[in-house]
Amino acid sequence: MDPTGKIKRDIDDQPKTSVEGLLRSIEEPQPLPVETEPRPMPDVAVIGAGAAGLTAALRAAQSGARVVLLNAHPKIGLKILMSGGTRCNVTHEAVSERDFNGGSRNVIARILRAFDVAATLAWFEDELDVPLKLEESGKYFPVTDEAQTVLDALLAACNRAGVRIESGARVVRIERDAKEIAKEEEYGADVDELLVETAGVSLPGNPSSIRNFRLGIQTVRDATAFDAGIVSRRGGQGWAPPNAKVDRWVSARRVILASGGLSFPRTGSDGAGYALAASCGHTIVPPVPALTPLTADDPLCRDAQGVTIDAELALWAGGKRLEVVRGSLLIAHFGFSGPAALDLSRHWLRADGERRVTANFAPGATHETMMAAWLDAVKNAPERTVRRQLGRWVPERIAARMCVEAGVDPARAVPQVSREQRSALIEQLLERDLRVKGTLGYEKAEVTAGGVALSEVDASTLVSRFSPGLYLCGEILDVEGRLGGFNFQWSWSSGTVAGRAAGK
Ligand SMILES: Cc1cc2nc3c(=O)[nH]c(=O)nc-3n(C[C@H](O)[C@H](O)[C@H](O)COP(=O)(O)OP(=O)(O)OC[C@H]3O[C@@H](n4cnc5c(N)ncnc54)[C@H](O)[C@@H]3O)c2cc1C
Repeated sequence: MDPTGKIKRDIDDQPKTSVEGLLRSIEEPQPLPVETEPRPMPDVAVIGAGAAGLTAALRAAQSGARVVLLNAHPKIGLKILMSGGTRCNVTHEAVSERDFNGGSRNVIARILRAFDVAATLAWFEDELDVPLKLEESGKYFPVTDEAQTVLDALLAACNRAGVRIESGARVVRIERDAKEIAKEEEYGADVDELLVETAGVSLPGNPSSIRNFRLGIQTVRDATAFDAGIVSRRGGQGWAPPNAKVDRWVSARRVILASGGLSFPRTGSDGAGYALAASCGHTIVPPVPALTPLTADDPLCRDAQGVTIDAELALWAGGKRLEVVRGSLLIAHFGFSGPAALDLSRHWLRADGERRVTANFAPGATHETMMAAWLDAVKNAPERTVRRQLGRWVPERIAARMCVEAGVDPARAVPQVSREQRSALIEQLLERDLRVKGTLGYEKAEVTAGGVALSEVDASTLVSRFSPGLYLCGEILDVEGRLGGFNFQWSWSSGTVAGRAAGK
């Protein structure tokens, strides 16, 4: 049923790393060196050192900018380390805008074209010195099979380009620097009018050149800082500013916001970036977890836990089939995981009203072809047992559960099965209700669906339409890809676009 081992490999790429395990490996953060001289103001401050922020910082520095990269978590790049079952699936051989959900696919296509898969492969091989291998599934991984190789290469490239990286530096405020604004004579603007508190207020004159940003930083010493969220939604309408004390301020001419979404919040991606973006005037498309396992109270989970199978899952709501995905399905004690279940989760969470998920365990087969195969067995192999007949499509433990539910003895010969029992078994094979109840949420979600509205950034530079000098990239934007390396491709592409534009 999995002769090439593809299903097993797909499942092995799924999150199995415990965040706690990674967090335990965190060394005590080193205190920052005492500064004897004031440091020149950076041209660009990047908020968040995940895949998108590291890429953006590197690109901005390579464009000639002085760059500081601020990361909330004391440990950099945790999600890169956890990714692809700790092997880091960096991209896919065929990436198109149709592999993504969220904002306008035209805008997504434009960003992907600006730094496409071919450019990404060349970047990894030639510049980052990370040879990649293409697997049968179309996924690219580093030949070392170690996510650490990818993170080390990105950090080394940032160091070579002169990016100053500060970890344990959580940005909790984003404002315009009043001192820089107050250049009355030069700009002829009314200073009182210019003393604004948020970065999103538009100003007369040429605001992008006169107003620097001021970022309020809270020093984070360990991961417990992320146990309780610091952001809250105002009645679902907006995001209150992070509720945290500012320990110091960092000024910069331009800011790139790459603080990720809400998934695996203990990695530092706790949604604070949404509050920062909202304080700059942006709309946040309500986020939901995506690529997260489905929970269910299906007895199949008890009887067949650990079994993996190729399946086609369908999401139904209001009597309509809303979405169909095909891929490996892992039956777990709590419900369903594996690529098929993960890919369906965002659709489950976005659908309204009564929903259900059905599984076709014989993708491609129809009621007619099943029936024909059954009648053929009755005629040509009358000794065949029900167990063996079902075994043509599903592993034994799944077949056993189906027999229980159809009231059939699996040891019975195929011709002895009644018409009703046969129909019940075929229905189990082609349209089994998986009794899905919900999802495991952000704690186990690979990405977040929703985020800063894509229509609110310029499609060629990713600069904010509301706050001149603010750029956004990565998962914080309302873009999320399906499983298979698409989300990292979005990080590399959008990080490159934002970094190059901000670094000019
Ligand atoms: C278990 C798991 C496995 C995955 N595997 C794959 C895979 O194999 N292939 C794939 O394509 N995708 C994979 N993904 C998805 C992929 O990891 C993400 O889409 C990608 O990392 C998003 O990058 P990002 O830089 O936008 O955000 P993040 O990686 O979330 O980084 C955001 C960073 O910002 C920091 N931050 C947050 N708030 C602040 C703040 N206020 N101030 C300063 N810093 C802040 C955080 O500490 C964090 O380091 C996986 C995700 C998970 C969770």
